[in-house]
Amino acid sequence: MADIIKLLPDHVANQIAAGEVVQRPASVVKELLENAIDAGATNVKLIVKDGGKTLIQVIDDGKGMSETDARLSFERHATSKIEKAEDLFQLMTKGFRGEALASIAAIAHVEMQTKPKDTELGTHLKIEGSTVIFQEVAAVPRGTSMCVKNLFFNIPARRNFLKSDTVELRHITDEFHRVALAHPQIAFHYYINGSEMFGLPIGNLRQRIVHIFGSKTNQKLVPVSEETQVVKIGGFIIKPEFAKKSRGEQFFFVNDRFIKSPYLHHAVLNAFEGLIKPSYHPGYFLYLQVDPASLDINIHPTKTEVKFDDEHTLYAILRSTIKHSLGQFNVVPAIDFESDPNLETPYAYKNKYAQLPKVTVDAGFNPFSEPKSSDTLTKPKQHQVKKNLGGQSWESLYVGLESKMGNEIEFKGEQFESDTITGSLFEEQEDSTQALATTFQLRRKYIVTSIKSGMVVIDQSRAHQRVLYEKFLRSGTGKQSVSQQLLFPLSVSFSKSDMAVLEEIKDSLKAIGFDFTATSSDVKISGVPLLVPESEVGMVLDQLIADCQQEVSGDSFSQTDLLSKTLAKSLAVKTGEVLETASQLALVNDLFACKEPMASPFHKPVYITITENDIDKKFI
Ligand code: ADP
Ligand code: MG
Repeated sequence: MADIIKLLPDHVANQIAAGEVVQRPASVVKELLENAIDAGATNVKLIVKDGGKTLIQVIDDGKGMSETDARLSFERHATSKIEKAEDLFQLMTKGFRGEALASIAAIAHVEMQTKPKDTELGTHLKIEGSTVIFQEVAAVPRGTSMCVKNLFFNIPARRNFLKSDTVELRHITDEFHRVALAHPQIAFHYYINGSEMFGLPIGNLRQRIVHIFGSKTNQKLVPVSEETQVVKIGGFIIKPEFAKKSRGEQFFFVNDRFIKSPYLHHAVLNAFEGLIKPSYHPGYFLYLQVDPASLDINIHPTKTEVKFDDEHTLYAILRSTIKHSLGQFNVVPAIDFESDPNLETPYAYKNKYAQLPKVTVDAGFNPFSEPKSSDTLTKPKQHQVKKNLGGQSWESLYVGLESKMGNEIEFKGEQFESDTITGSLFEEQEDSTQALATTFQLRRKYIVTSIKSGMVVIDQSRAHQRVLYEKFLRSGTGKQSVSQQLLFPLSVSFSKSDMAVLEEIKDSLKAIGFDFTATSSDVKISGVPLLVPESEVGMVLDQLIADCQQEVSGDSFSQTDLLSKTLAKSLAVKTGEVLETASQLALVNDLFACKEPMASPFHKPVYITITENDIDKKFI
């Protein structure tokens, strides 16, 4: 039989390797930024166009390359960073595989200019799909500029697989954050489609975090510091009261390299236990320094997952360090020596005497007198409702009802109640008033109401989500956007990348009733959708931004849909909340006036019916 095995030509091998190294434009950004850092740069520029699909350029002022090195750097397994296998255990650089440049050059148009410090002239080199187009001597600045154009130009399948520019850009920005956070001693500039997104001067870690995530972050940071034989821990955690509903800022760095570690993340969660609500996520920027020999960064091709020698010890140390920091911060709030303006007495009050609060008593109050029925409907007992949803959002349950009532009364007299119920469930019902009167709440979770054929058990939270979702959707897609103008515009600050998301979804936000103008540092909100309480605007917008980051689509209908879903989820009553009879009634009414009362906006069942027959069967 003839021999059939052949060695793959280099350009094919490189293309295959590229599949592992370069998944998307953000991977190129990561590799180029890391090379710049390994080259000892103090100033790094990142330039990106069209989500990195047309252009990614990284310019550094690092040590540059000689003519020969410039050419060699594009060969596979060409690296200046290790010489022998043992070097792997003393790694101080980001790169070591010598694959990145070879891989990138196999699947893009690459142009490099580079010059070491001590030479007059440098090198200008162009490679397209592993083929050198030219290499010449050139007068170029010190350092290296790598320009990567038309990524995946020769692999259409991969190019088509890329997501929208916005999504790719978000990955790039994430990568940029990780590298910039790991190296506050290096200045970074980041340009997107010609305008500067970040200009980060050299500074300390706190300053770097604040430059990236906005000035409000400063007061949220609690320093963390511990030094033991196995590990040195530094960085910051975000005060528990600023924990977010979405996974916000969670960063682990080991030896200045961003890593993901579900195990260590768990240690942090554990330390925060009891200080934040279950569905909230703590924020942290944690920097671990360990002996490189105790670390294996080689287990994952994109190198964000690492393996520690002694994970259990690390877990324990990390947890107790964070607990300690949290404890110190609770006992001595000013421990980080940066005054917290929230704790200071406002100037105007400094010289005033404290006054005893006056207590007024309603002498005519009789706890045994029955409240008038209209009272029950419009004023729920506020104290029974959990604070974070507040009275206002609660009243949201009634907003629709009230307006509906208004309309109905105007046109149809007293029959409004049965008329609002349009769902098929109640169609056979002659006496719905009586049915609704038997509504009750089960385990603060379900509303149970009887119908002619048996009973309905409604999940209160999902039902309210459905009601709110349809309301937001109506105002978002129709012309009747219902906005409530604020007397005093609210100013909310966001990080630059959050601002970019807001900018993208601006039109949809306006359509559902948000009215705002964005300045360079914050957002002035002058109007909010009718159902959004003022106190929750910040939380709601944070949630909206987080959801949009997960799932972005250019078309405005699905954006409105996504926003309506998120708003509905944030504002709906939750399991565990006590609902008064009047509120239960309102919710049932509103639910069955919905177009699709059966399912929540997230396609979960909203209610089940149990027929008399079903019940009878149980008694056989
Ligand atoms: P690795 O970083 O794993 O060594 P790369 O393919 O990323 O592999 O780079 C190959 C070599 O090219 C590096 O080892 C380094 O010597 C050189 N190099 C790459 N980028 C730069 C840069 N920006 N400045 C100086 N040298 C560089
Ligand atoms: Mg590299």
